[in-house]
Amino acid sequence: MISDEDKNKVRDATDLVALVQETVELKPRGNTDLWGCCPFHGEKTPSFHIIPATQVWHCFGCGEGGDVFTYIMKREGLSFPESIRYLADRAGIELEEDRSFKRSGTKRNRLIEVCEETSEFYHTLLMRGKDARGREYCKGRELDADTCRKYRLGFAPGHGMLVRHLGSKGFTPQEMIDANVAFRSRNGGLVDRFFDRVMFPIMDEQGRCIAFGGRALDKEKTNAKYLNSSETPIFHKGQEPLRLQLGQGPHRGPQRGHRGGGLHQRHELLEGGHREHRRGPRHRAHRGPRQDAHALHQKIIYMFDGDAAGQKAARRAIQFIEKDDIDLRCVILPDGQDPDDFVRANGGDKLRELLDNSIPLMDFVFGKLEEESDISTPGGRAKAMKSALELIYPLRASYMIDGYYMQIADRLGLDVEMIRSNAGKVFREVQQREGDQSSP
Ligand SMILES: [Zn+2]
Repeated sequence: MISDEDKNKVRDATDLVALVQETVELKPRGNTDLWGCCPFHGEKTPSFHIIPATQVWHCFGCGEGGDVFTYIMKREGLSFPESIRYLADRAGIELEEDRSFKRSGTKRNRLIEVCEETSEFYHTLLMRGKDARGREYCKGRELDADTCRKYRLGFAPGHGMLVRHLGSKGFTPQEMIDANVAFRSRNGGLVDRFFDRVMFPIMDEQGRCIAFGGRALDKEKTNAKYLNSSETPIFHKGQEPLRLQLGQGPHRGPQRGHRGGGLHQRHELLEGGHREHRRGPRHRAHRGPRQDAHALHQKIIYMFDGDAAGQKAARRAIQFIEKDDIDLRCVILPDGQDPDDFVRANGGDKLRELLDNSIPLMDFVFGKLEEESDISTPGGRAKAMKSALELIYPLRASYMIDGYYMQIADRLGLDVEMIRSNAGKVFREVQQREGDQSSP
């Protein structure tokens, strides 16, 4: 995780105007703003503007806006953490993350090697092992051999087979325990953590295995149908979104720099919504190995089953917009279907089509607010503005807040100054309602 301190350091060292001027010609208009043609949608008359004093940009044409980080994310096709690294490089700032990674690099890499070796071993056992139960399970779930290879699925037989295998490769008991693939039994012996399970490796941003999820073959024999790795020095559940990796062959070492045209995805039930992780192969062609790992654009698409449930879940998801540092988008699945129902009824291509047409989560939620109020009347617009401000209350301390004000202003055809001046009042009301006296 990049610290707030580092993030602020990078922001302070970056001039939005200079950054934009690298590719866009800007002209002053009025005495505060600079205007130019938007680099993110084709246009001939400028609707893109910057307020140098606040270091915020916004385009009235396509509705995009934000600060230096969102700007570079969009321009270079980067995720949020990648955008910080990009601008840190540009400003010659070394991030604490990189310094501490250098300090702990050896131990970290070693644990990743344990997970990679474990993943390879489990995968071989699934594909070619004597015990065919894993293969049968996959067959029953219509997971063919290609799919098993793509996801690097595995089979964990237990009986100390993994511990013996890792031992023969020179890994110490402590390393196996630290990577959470083994533990000490009561009598002090070293035991495989996973047994009789089909294994799903969990990857880090560089496509290296750092943890596992295991699905029990025989749920009568165990009380946990699913068993996941605990927190380890390389796997932090809260910080890193879990990913399954697609589009990769099984033979990848931890040192590998280049990555195949992979699509990472994960479906999960999240407070009534299903999320899909997508990382697209963007902006990679002319980059070296180091930037390559950073140059992946990341987004999460929420798949909501039904409109009403979707609205509720979307509103709850708003507060994660910046916590996850990821582009949050959504689609509504028809007739209360979950993704599996939908694919079975309509096929995978239709789902892909739906996902390609996802809309930003914020747009969806704002759109719903507008539907609830009649925004053709001043009273309706005032009501929609109030609801929108209540909605972004969790983001009130965000550096993006001004961008959200602009979005609301754009959508409702109101002056941004009016939104800004109402925000304080609405936020105070929400705060009082929540009985939260602690924060400003
Ligand atoms: Zn634009």
